Amino acid sequence: MKFGFDIDDTLINLRGYAFTIYNKKLNKNLAMDIFEALKTVEIHEPFGLTNAEGKQMWNTLREEIYFSDCPAYPEAVETLQELKEQGHEIYYITARPGEHAERTMNWMKERGFPVDDDKFYCGMKDHEKVKIIEELGLDFYFDDKPGVLATLSSDYLRVVVRDQSYNRHLQGERLSHWKEMKTFLSSE
Ligand SMILES: [Mg+2]
Repeated sequence: MKFGFDIDDTLINLRGYAFTIYNKKLNKNLAMDIFEALKTVEIHEPFGLTNAEGKQMWNTLREEIYFSDCPAYPEAVETLQELKEQGHEIYYITARPGEHAERTMNWMKERGFPVDDDKFYCGMKDHEKVKIIEELGLDFYFDDKPGVLATLSSDYLRVVVRDQSYNRHLQGERLSHWKEMKTFLSSE
């Protein structure tokens, strides 16, 4: 089968990692339960930043957020390795800007994610993700972002919401921990 994955906040805890970096840079000590309760994908609001300031902060720190030590979610690497070993195809479809494609791909490989260079799509805007997902004929697609998930529906594709505080209003299949992947496979 063909499995498609978003990367940020689906396979790796990017926002959580960025939150800890914001704490350090802004000399704050906001607790993670504030982070856990956020209803927005953006994380700047509890730091008292405007949207413009938040955007600027993110862009300034993007390099560090993307390419230092962001942790994968527990068992994400192992789960994808297992799928690959079972003969499934693994696709990555990320909205990260295209100029970060190669470094992101290498970073994912270094973390142990199974990556085939020709199954890695970077720089995908929300509406472009939909198109590529359809073209690839994926069986499963996992993403956290309401803007993407809301556009996906198909009789063939199983869309799974990677559970986050800002997507709980979405209907449909939901995964909160990567160990739950086994449940999806057995219900196929
Ligand atoms: Mg994401």
